[in-house]
Amino acid sequence: MEQLLEELLEASQPYTQNGKLANYIPELLKADPNALGIYVMRPDGKRSWAGDCTHKFTIQSVVKPILLLQALLDNGIDVVRSHVGVEATGKPFDAINAINTNEKALYSEHLNPMVNMGAILMCTLIHGDTYQEKFDRLLDLTRKLADNPDIVVDEAVYQSEKATGSKNRALAYLLKTYGMIQGDVEEVLDCYFRACSIQVTCKDLARIGAVLANRGRAPGSDERIFPAKFAQYVNAILLTCGMYDGSGDFAVRVGIPAKSGVGGGIMAVVPTRMGIGIFGPALDKNGNSIAGIRLLEEFSHRMYLSIF
Ligand code: GLN
Repeated sequence: MEQLLEELLEASQPYTQNGKLANYIPELLKADPNALGIYVMRPDGKRSWAGDCTHKFTIQSVVKPILLLQALLDNGIDVVRSHVGVEATGKPFDAINAINTNEKALYSEHLNPMVNMGAILMCTLIHGDTYQEKFDRLLDLTRKLADNPDIVVDEAVYQSEKATGSKNRALAYLLKTYGMIQGDVEEVLDCYFRACSIQVTCKDLARIGAVLANRGRAPGSDERIFPAKFAQYVNAILLTCGMYDGSGDFAVRVGIPAKSGVGGGIMAVVPTRMGIGIFGPALDKNGNSIAGIRLLEEFSHRMYLSIF
């Protein structure tokens, strides 16, 4: 396995040249655009990796499935679904027009938890008396899923996001005008910005993916972290919405549930077989790791990973 990963990594490395670092969060411009790494973890706990796997980067949108899991653990599927739907928007992650106000459907039916508007709403659904408490519970779940108690927030990225996050502010205030957010919008946003700034490695993402692949149980043990039905719910949404407006392309090329982030991370889930963590900060036009997708495509092809 190590040898295969090394071979595929080498073949995918040149694709980093075709992408660009995210520049709308200034702090993310400090990343090395040529970096690339892959980490694989199986349900029995066995692991393999190649490339840049010790480098820490911010989780960004890969936190969205964790926000969803925390909201599910606190409220159950029916309540979560009544606030945020499950249909792909077919629009960019930060689209202001994700909600089409001309249609009769409820606003919530236009959203899913993998785009920014849906994820900002997830923050409001997490239990806790204050937004600090809600965020602390989310951070605890992230540490538990990754089996890494040392995970912390990257303060510089958090400050950078908070200072430049006008688009996310616009999305959140729009949710407020639709009556979907009660209370202080800035507090909700603060929780969201902190969540995006959680620092992880490929290994952390692989472990989180492995728990989702293992239907909510920790790899290598029988410890249940969340109910199997939540894994089914989250994995289905990852498949249809996890790579934003590149989800259809990813489904035909790779064919597995996955979530990307503008920090260059991808967490992929091969149900019952493995979790995969990728780091490659050069992004394509949809904000997905360009070489990371190429690497996953080849890996899926060689290992027959597509669920189709
Ligand atoms: N923090 C980023 C934002 O909200 C996350 C987006 C992403 O990773 N696609 O804009």
